[in-house]
Amino acid sequence: MKSVERERDGTGDTAHDQECYRCDRDVAPARLFRLVSEPPAALSHDYQTAERFCCPDCAAAMNLSEFSERLKAHARRG
Ligand SMILES: [Zn+2]
Repeated sequence: MKSVERERDGTGDTAHDQECYRCDRDVAPARLFRLVSEPPAALSHDYQTAERFCCPDCAAAMNLSEFSERLKAHARRG
């Protein structure tokens, strides 16, 4: 069984991240989506801000990707 968290214990040291945290696919750093989960102030005692990197496919699967206005305009025309 493979843990998504691996040995990273939330120290925030993600400088060498080059793979999607969901599917473990190797992705060029320039093509990784950065997901930041920032807790509301009321929960900041219990949670800390988390940062993950994922590939465009997974971002789309989670409905977290948003196409640029340029692409949207193009789609609307078609
Ligand atoms: Zn992925």
